Amino acid sequence: MSIFQNIKKFILDILFPITCLSCGQDDVWLCDKCVKNIELLSFQVCPKCEDTISESGRTCYNCKPSNLDGLLVASKYQENNLSKLVHLYKYRFVEDLHIPLGKILVKAILQSQLPLPDLILSVPLHTRRLRWRGFNQSELLSKYISQNLTPGLEIPVGKNLLTRKKYTPPQMKIKKYQERLDNLQNAFAIKTQGTKSPFGDLVPTTTSLYGKNILLIDDIATTGATLLECAKVLKLNGAKKVFATVLARQEMQ
Ligand SMILES: [Zn+2]
Ligand SMILES: [Zn+2]
Repeated sequence: MSIFQNIKKFILDILFPITCLSCGQDDVWLCDKCVKNIELLSFQVCPKCEDTISESGRTCYNCKPSNLDGLLVASKYQENNLSKLVHLYKYRFVEDLHIPLGKILVKAILQSQLPLPDLILSVPLHTRRLRWRGFNQSELLSKYISQNLTPGLEIPVGKNLLTRKKYTPPQMKIKKYQERLDNLQNAFAIKTQGTKSPFGDLVPTTTSLYGKNILLIDDIATTGATLLECAKVLKLNGAKKVFATVLARQEMQ
């Protein structure tokens, strides 16, 4: 955390003493008891049409083919204080919240039919937004999941593998679905990894994604356009399956 972030946190702690958002217990944002009480969704829908009930959020028969093999939504945005928690996490820079939020995601994944991933990736932020926020909220969640999904066996996290090369206005500010898709065209890329040839130039290798089951993590999805665009890039670079998990879907206003 930068000094500025620390000062902000310090001031916020004085102005807003920490208590569990659900039950009021001191010194935690969400106590373990309240994490346990968060209701997970009992069924998933197709990530594209959102009309068809689908096991673990697989794309339905009508919407195939999609680059996203499944979208697991953990809970409802407007319930269980989730919207408050996500807001504090993202816009009040409460980094510690990645632990209760990570627990919710781990529980949802374990209860789902999603296959165990070979690699976990988070939806990247553009460096400009990363500097402003000080941390990538999805990356912290990824790290938590990688360490806690299969205790004792850490699942690799592909850090900086998927990058955001285009600065795009926040999706929240774009109302129309097609505009959201256009906004994201070519926004993501895979960082070329490679080996140096004897002549000193970089020979690209894409082995890091090839044939792998990828789990993509984001905090909130609205239309799912971001996840679909990321999945497209990952598939183009050799990923076998791409699944995604988010805390909740935020309805478009
Ligand atoms: Zn509580
Ligand atoms: Zn569908």
